[in-house]
Amino acid sequence: MQDTTPLPRPTAAPGWQRELAHAVTTLDELAAALELPAASLGKGAAAAADFALRVPRGFVARMRKGDPHDPLLLQVLPLARELLPVRGYGSDPLDEVAGLQHPGLLQKYRGRALLVTTGACAVNCRYCFRRDFPYASASLTSQALDGVLQALADDTGIEELILSGGDPLSLNDRRLAVLIGAVEDMHHVRRIRIHTRLPIVLPSRVDAGLLGVLAQTTRQLVVVLHANHPQELDADVAGAAARLRSACSLLLNQSVLLRGVNDEPATLVALSQRLFDIGVLPYYLHLLDPVRGAAHFHVGERRARRLMGEVAAALPGYLVPRLARERPGAPAKVVLAPMLHKPAHAT
Ligand SMILES: *Cc1c(COP(=O)(O)O)cnc(C)c1O
Ligand code: SF4
Repeated sequence: MQDTTPLPRPTAAPGWQRELAHAVTTLDELAAALELPAASLGKGAAAAADFALRVPRGFVARMRKGDPHDPLLLQVLPLARELLPVRGYGSDPLDEVAGLQHPGLLQKYRGRALLVTTGACAVNCRYCFRRDFPYASASLTSQALDGVLQALADDTGIEELILSGGDPLSLNDRRLAVLIGAVEDMHHVRRIRIHTRLPIVLPSRVDAGLLGVLAQTTRQLVVVLHANHPQELDADVAGAAARLRSACSLLLNQSVLLRGVNDEPATLVALSQRLFDIGVLPYYLHLLDPVRGAAHFHVGERRARRLMGEVAAALPGYLVPRLARERPGAPAKVVLAPMLHKPAHAT
């Protein structure tokens, strides 16, 4: 059969950007790729109109075909019930918008400043706590950039600059280089930390261009990945992790505890083991933030602690993530398990 698809025009865009442009964005396409009847996913159309379906094809390829309960699928699948109001679930669960010192600059914890570098992301996770974040006004726009960099340069209490988003690695290399390069003049900033899910959902992002940008900083670099299930970590992701490890001082992972996705001890144990196989240490396991539309992922605190008890009993301490939640106004993330302090009466 003759192939009638037009040849791609020659382009300078890196491969990962072309892959990103071809992400799956419709329920029909997703159903077809997974060999599921279109009607089985179609009920989420209104939810997708509210918060778009978006998932790179390489991530879809790691989902099990014919399984509507696949743990990777559930993370990205819009559901009709997302639109039902649930008490306690809101648009800004962490009061972040009020905490912005400048557009895109969040300083909640001592010594660390977090930049909401962009609203863009390679994937739309249904449980994303910033799904309603007003990125247009509250992320680091190019107009705000100079002011924010000046504020960081002036505040000598900042030891660590955290690039977050959206996903900071969805910025192109040039924009990333501007941010990372600016730190060279800020002598008080000792560490740069990047929080990203791109190496998981789009491992081709970790290309020579990115490694070149990362190699230019003289600061210690910490990269925190975001994977929730061992099935996300295939050979391509292992390759991306290996490349990142050569570029940074510490490679960590954070997950979100999600009902139906990773709320079984065996899954969490396998996740930690698989992470270590590819050179990544588990850091945080977050309780779900109560963001509008995500209530179906809720795992209660008591059950979460019990799960962590089983995980801790099965693994060396360094493979046990900290079960944590954010409490607006608290001086640090609140660690629920493993307990960091023995009760005072313990002997
Ligand atoms: C989570 C977070 C950090 C980092 O906290 P660590 O406990 O150091 O990982 C920093 N700033 C903000 C605003 C955060 O939400
Ligand atoms: S990768 Fe992170 S920022 Fe992007 S949609 Fe998922 S949870 Fe939100």
